[in-house]
Amino acid sequence: MGYHWSVLDLYGVSSSHELAELFLDSLLGKSLLEQLKARRIIQLAIKPFLFGGGICTIENLGFSMILNWPFQPQGNEYYATNFGHELFHTFQFNLDNMKPMWGESREELYKRMVNRIRKSKRYYRELENCAETFAFLWASYSDHRNQLEEFIDRFKNSVVDVQSL
Ligand SMILES: [Zn+2]
Repeated sequence: MGYHWSVLDLYGVSSSHELAELFLDSLLGKSLLEQLKARRIIQLAIKPFLFGGGICTIENLGFSMILNWPFQPQGNEYYATNFGHELFHTFQFNLDNMKPMWGESREELYKRMVNRIRKSKRYYRELENCAETFAFLWASYSDHRNQLEEFIDRFKNSVVDVQSL
């Protein structure tokens, strides 16, 4: 309440839910592999980690995504929302232009990542809320869940070179 998330203006939307839907729209109808390629995820590590998942950039080539596996307690729903969450974060960067979206230079971004120079806590709260909304929407498609389940089954405990698929 009272806080206006500046990212919404960049996309001409009025809520983070609308923003999540806008991003999701660009992926609907694509297979999981096509989605990975569309978001330039060139590497996907499905292995035991100490956290649910994450992404990092590999220079301007694309992203490396990691997904924690195995994680029995929450089952496959866990993978779908974790995957969706990390997928959302790829939208923060425009690798085609070799610069992050959202008005920061690449240099500034790296500095921020390394030094943890933060925008406001509210900015990040909105960002993470939007990621969670996107993840929920993404995971609501049974097709997404099923394809991810198959993908994890096929590539569990390995690092996948997505471009070779
Ligand atoms: Zn996040």
